[in-house]
Amino acid sequence: MFCPTCGAKLPDGSVFCEKCGARVAMTPEPPKKVVLDPKEVVEHKPEKDSSKTFAGNGRAFGIILMLLPVLGDLAALLAVGSEHFIPITVVAAIFFVIGFLMVVFSPG
Ligand SMILES: [Zn+2]
Repeated sequence: MFCPTCGAKLPDGSVFCEKCGARVAMTPEPPKKVVLDPKEVVEHKPEKDSSKTFAGNGRAFGIILMLLPVLGDLAALLAVGSEHFIPITVVAAIFFVIGFLMVVFSPG
């Protein structure tokens, strides 16, 4: 562990810093998060949040992925006619499969 006040390396479980005498027992975190620039701290927090959010929204995102190409297919059929319909359908099918897999395997 490290002293949060002066950054001195201390044996684990220390209550007071051997160098500056500051109380360190209440702050077991290493000085990295305190001393380093705020970017480091900010970057660590969303990492956990984003993983949770992704797990929770994976199913909804997958459903959107499934619905969008279907709607896009219909719109493309009406807009450009059957000439461009087939290649668009191939792309739509790929999106549909990806969306389907996301819905099936989403933990949320
Ligand atoms: Zn200290």
